[in-house]
Amino acid sequence: MIEIPKKMKAMALMAYDHLEMIEVPVPQPGPGEVLCRIKSVAICGSDPKMIHGGYRFANWPPYFPFIMGHEWAGQVVALGPGVTEFQVGDRVAGEAHCGCGKCDNCKRGHYTVCLNYGKDGHDGGPDMGHRHYGFYWQGANAEYNVYKVGALHRIPDNVSYDVASMCDCAGVALHGVELAGVTPGGTSVVIGPGPIGLCAMMECKAMGSGRVIVIGRGAKLEKARELGADVCIDFEKEDPVARVLELTGGVGADEVMECSGAPDSPEKACRMVRKTGAVAIIATYKQSDVPLPMNIINFNEIRIVGAKANPNVSEKALCFFSTGAIQGEKLVTHTFPLEEYAKAVDVFEHKKDGSIKVVIHP
Ligand SMILES: [Zn+2]
Ligand SMILES: [Zn+2]
Repeated sequence: MIEIPKKMKAMALMAYDHLEMIEVPVPQPGPGEVLCRIKSVAICGSDPKMIHGGYRFANWPPYFPFIMGHEWAGQVVALGPGVTEFQVGDRVAGEAHCGCGKCDNCKRGHYTVCLNYGKDGHDGGPDMGHRHYGFYWQGANAEYNVYKVGALHRIPDNVSYDVASMCDCAGVALHGVELAGVTPGGTSVVIGPGPIGLCAMMECKAMGSGRVIVIGRGAKLEKARELGADVCIDFEKEDPVARVLELTGGVGADEVMECSGAPDSPEKACRMVRKTGAVAIIATYKQSDVPLPMNIINFNEIRIVGAKANPNVSEKALCFFSTGAIQGEKLVTHTFPLEEYAKAVDVFEHKKDGSIKVVIHP
């Protein structure tokens, strides 16, 4: 038995741009849920955006005070009624999304686009079973949290909690990479070498790409080179479209993973991909109206795929961490205690001190 206190520390968003450490009751696991001691939480690009009120349109967070944090790893410390999938002591990594399991999309495996999104009962409405931890339901920026077993995956023994906390991030990249497809022996392009882009780059290599070209700038482009990118293009120094075409004999890349979120990147992706190639839209964009070259898409039969979060990829991502195909330790550049969350967000958001992935230890 593991001793569980009644109260815990949590870093809460009290209002936009107002974080505060509060004390709250340790939640109790219901049927099909487990209580986890949170060990590591990785800060995601979406976290500062949510703190600043950039997701009002999505109703994230749905209320204040709200406990954020969705890229996490920890240990199962108590089981709810009927749980047989996990045991106390198991090391687990979490997914942000847990679908209702009953709707048409969930039944087909598309649980990140659950048709009962947000129907979790928090507002007095019906609880259809959907959870979106750290966005719509309380998250991991606390000592403990309760999760449905469907959102959890066992961590391989040789993967640390810090690395496993990036399971969600690596999975977001992998879902897009899988949707676009990787051409064995072909040429893949990754635009935007942030944490997701760097994972996408290593995943393309692991999945048999012959050559991965990364487009970016500064320290993150250097990081891509260090992690094994075959060609690095600094878009401030050369035209990435012209360079990709030159590198591919004028044909274009087989697939492009757009991980930058820059408003002109989707169009560039369409111009550098080959006829019948694929473009995965893995990033999100500040503005919703982003231009696309429709006649190029049409004439060249370009396949554009939207990739929402990370369904059905966590086990693969954890395996890639375990085998070293994704060099997780090299992505974690900073760690902070939960008390210093605001500072950690600042270091991450403003890319201070060469930060790539910043991890919190509650
Ligand atoms: Zn994330
Ligand atoms: Zn559903």
